[in-house]
Order: sequence, then structure tokens, then C-alpha cells
Amino acid sequence: MFENLSDRLTRVVKTITGEARITEANTQEMLREVRLALLEADVALPVVKDFISQVKERALGEEVLNSLTPGQALVGIVNEQLTKLMGEKTEDINLAAQPPVVILMAGLQGAGKTTTTGKLAKYLKDTLKKKVMTVSADVYRPAAIEQLKTVSGQAGAEFFPSNIDQKPVDIALAALNHAKRQFFDVLIVDTAGRLGIDEAMMNEIKALHAAVNPTETLFVIDAMLGQDAANTAKAFNDALPLTGVVLTKMDGDSRGGAALSVRQITGKPIKFMGVGEKLSGFERFHPERVAGRILG
Ligand code: GDP
Repeated sequence: MFENLSDRLTRVVKTITGEARITEANTQEMLREVRLALLEADVALPVVKDFISQVKERALGEEVLNSLTPGQALVGIVNEQLTKLMGEKTEDINLAAQPPVVILMAGLQGAGKTTTTGKLAKYLKDTLKKKVMTVSADVYRPAAIEQLKTVSGQAGAEFFPSNIDQKPVDIALAALNHAKRQFFDVLIVDTAGRLGIDEAMMNEIKALHAAVNPTETLFVIDAMLGQDAANTAKAFNDALPLTGVVLTKMDGDSRGGAALSVRQITGKPIKFMGVGEKLSGFERFHPERVAGRILG
């Protein structure tokens, strides 16, 4: 993950910290290199543009020129802006509602929704000591329902059975009813995903959202997605009032475009990241740590 980007930015950083003087010319040269590195990492174009213009404004300001070590000041700015791009601070899952708190999972097929549902159930149960129930509203793939049953078992969460003859909204409402009666703290609703964005799928998840009124609507996105990440994120964000993002497959060797674009495109905090196929491969998202990893 981020290997190329990290290599390239580390090289830029070395060059600039070695400069005796920071001038408009060598700042422009640095910005050009940073821009190319971000584009090569598949960061969405509008995100790259904003990033460069923000770094530029600060780089040519007093803060750098008056610094005793202008090269390092400049690198500090790149680091801060990278952190800001991914959200500045670590954001908690919001459970501040009358239980059962509903969490709705959204995203394309293969993004890692079902795996993440299991991971989140485990996190809520083990770390936050919550009583958690899961349910699958994916009536198109019986295997998806079975998969959720398996991961819920691994997580030690209660699984509410559903089947492909039912309607997604009916399934979710029945689960919610059950969760209420049994005093569950949290109900996680896993949903169907398609290979691409389509209207029927968006209408279905909008109806689910309206029916269960979730406290968190988490958009699950595969960090391996390249330029498509921007379009996918935008489509989900336009259709649903998302409250957060989960970046999956951060353990892979992707270039990192989705990770760097999704916060700005949706305006929603990245709350967790998936770092492995197992349920233990799940972490809260710390923007400053990820930025630190990129700058090496
Ligand atoms: P869904 O269609 O969105 O429900 O996606 P799944 O949960 O079935 O995940 C699709 C594939 O991605 C599966 O093979 C998962 O094991 C894998 N996967 C999910 N999250 C991660 C992750 O964080 N890291 C890795 N390496 N694989 C993951």
C-alpha cells in the first residue's frame, strides 16, 4: 500500500530538505513532483488540484520563509495537508441513540461489506462491550446470507436469519423488532451490492435507510479502487446520508488513490480500515498515522 507514492514523496522530501534556500522556483518544482506522485497513485483529479493549491498557498507564505529550516517547514506542511486530506482526527463510531442503534452498511459488491460487518460486530462486542445482532438484506445471493451467518458466529454476535424470498425492507424491520424485544444494543444491517452503480440498487438501499433510520450509514470502499473510487463514492454519497467510511483492503498493494480521495469527495470521516481477510484485520482509522506512513 502506498509504496510508489511513498517512494516518490520521500525522494521529493529529501531534495527539498537539502536545499539551502527555498525559492518560488524550487517550491514550484516540488509541487510539480508531488502532483505527479498523487496522480500516479490514482488520487482523483479535483482532490489533487485542491491539495496542491493549499500546499502552495502555505508554502509561499511567511511560515516557511521565516523558518530557520525552510525545507523542513515545507515538508511539515505537506505532512499536515496529507493528514487533513484524510480527516485530521480519529473519529468514533456514533452509538448515541436509543438502543438498538442501527448501522447500515453500503457499498459495491466485493467491497468487503459482509466481512466488515463481521469485523465491526466483533469490535463492538469485544472492545465496546455491546450486545450485537446482524442481519443480511441481500436477497440476491443466498451465499451472502450464509457468509454473514459464518462471520457473525466468529464474531460472537447474534445472527438474525433471512432468506431470498423476503423483501429487504421486511427483513430489516423484522430484525429491528427482534433486536428491540431482546434488548440488543446494536443492529448491523448488511445490504446487497452490485458490480456497478444502478438505480434499482440505490432505490433499494434508500428504502432500507428510510425504514430503519440508521444512526450510522457506513460506506464500505475497496482501497484498491483506482479512479473509479471517486465516481462510486460520489454516487453513494448523493443517494444516501452517509455518516462514515470504511476503507477495506488497506493491507493490499494498491496505489492508495481511494484512501486519499474518499474523505474529500464524500466530506464524511473515514472511521475504520480493513487490514486483512480475518475478523482481527480491522482498525480504527488514524489519519496522521497513515500520512506518516506515506511520508516514510
Ligand atoms: P461484499 O461483497 O462487499 O460483502 O464483500 P466481502 O465481504 O464478501 O469481501 C470480498 C472479498 O474481499 C473477500 O474475499 C474478503 O475476504 C476480502 N476482504 C474484505 N476485507 C478485506 C481486507 O481488509 N483485506 C483483505 N486482504 N481482504 C479483504
